[in-house]
Amino acid sequence: MRTFKETFASYTWDSIQQKIYASTLDDVKRVLQKDRHQLEDFLVLLSPAAESALEHMAQLAQSITQRRFGKTIQMYAPLYLSNECQNICTYCGFSMDNKIKRKTLSDTEIMMEAMALKAMGLQHVLLVSGEANKTVGVDYFLNAIRLLKPHFSQISIEVQPLEQHEYELIQQAGVHTVLVYQETYHQDVYRAYHPKGKKSNFDYRLDTPDRIGKAGIHKIGLGVLLGLEDWRTDSFFNAMHINYLQKQYWRTKYSVSFPRLRPAEGIIEPNFVMEDRHLLQLICAYRIWNPDLEISISTRESEHFRNHIIPIGVTTMSAASKTNPGGYAVDPQSLEQFEISDERSMETVIDLIKKVGYDPIMKDWDVAYSGLDKAKV
Ligand code: SF4
Repeated sequence: MRTFKETFASYTWDSIQQKIYASTLDDVKRVLQKDRHQLEDFLVLLSPAAESALEHMAQLAQSITQRRFGKTIQMYAPLYLSNECQNICTYCGFSMDNKIKRKTLSDTEIMMEAMALKAMGLQHVLLVSGEANKTVGVDYFLNAIRLLKPHFSQISIEVQPLEQHEYELIQQAGVHTVLVYQETYHQDVYRAYHPKGKKSNFDYRLDTPDRIGKAGIHKIGLGVLLGLEDWRTDSFFNAMHINYLQKQYWRTKYSVSFPRLRPAEGIIEPNFVMEDRHLLQLICAYRIWNPDLEISISTRESEHFRNHIIPIGVTTMSAASKTNPGGYAVDPQSLEQFEISDERSMETVIDLIKKVGYDPIMKDWDVAYSGLDKAKV
C-alpha cells in the first residue's frame, strides 16, 4: 500500500483548490442525493457553491449524527502540562522567541490541576504541552499518565510528534487518543509559519499519524489550524489524510477538530478569516462524508456558535478550559496559549446541553471493562 506521503505527493494544492472552486450547485445537489459518500463528494460539499445548500446540509448532518451517535455529547477539558517549547511557530503564544515565563508542572501541581478537573465532574482529560523534547519528553508524559490514570477513565494527549516506539509506550501506559494537527497542508506556507525547530520538518509531521496508527493507539485526532491558509483546500487534504488512515489502520477510531486561530500573546492575525457559516459548512461536510467520524468543538468558539452546533454534527466538546499550565488551580494568572472564547463554567455548558435535549457524557468508558478481553468472559 502507498504511504500517505506518496498519496499526498500525487495531488497539488492548486489543482485541488481549482476543483473545489469549480464545483457547481448541480454537483452539490447530486452529492446530497447519494446514500454513501466518497472523498470527491466531500470536495464538492466544501465548495462555495454548497453554501446555498447549507440548510439542507445541516438537516442531513443532524440526522446522520443522531443515527450514528444518538443525542450525546462527550465532555472533556485540556490539562496544560507545560508551556516550554523549542519551536518557533508564528501563530502561537508558546513560541520559543516569545518572552514569557516558562512553566512545567511538578507532580504535585499535576495532581492539583487534576483534582480541580475532577471537582467539575470530568473523567476525560486531554494532556497538552509545547514541544520541548529534552525537558518534557516521553518520560515526563509517562510519569504524568501514571499519576493521572487512577483518576480518569480516559486520557488523551496532544504533544510533540513522537517516534513509534514512544507511542507504543504511551499506549501501554493507558493513553486512549493522540491528537496531532498538521496545521496546514500547504507545504510552502508551512515553512513560513514554522521557521525554526523540529516542527519545521513538514514530512516528519505528515508521517506522525502513521506512527500513531502503527503503535495501535485507540483513536487518532487530526485537524488543520483554520486561518493559516484557504480552509476549503486545507480541509480537503485533512480529509484525504483521514481517508488514507482509515483504510490503513481500520481498527483505529478517528476524530477531527477545528481550531480557528485565536488571539494570543505576540501572534499574527489570521491570513484567512473563516466565518461561522463556513465552519458550519465544514462540520456538515465532514459529517455527511464520514458518518463514523467523531467531531470535536473547543472553547475557541463563541457561546453562540457552540449553542447552535450541538445538534448538528458535534460529538465531543470541551468546557471551562484553561490553556495555561496550572490554569485551573496552581497559577491561574500564567500566560495562556491562546484566549478562549466560550468562558462559561462546566455546569452552565452541561445545563445547556441538557436543555437542547442532549446527554452530556462525563465518563464514556469504565476502566473495569478494560480487563474483560484478558479475562475471556
Ligand atoms: S504551536 Fe506548539 S510547537 Fe508551535 S510554538 Fe506553540 S506549543 Fe510550540
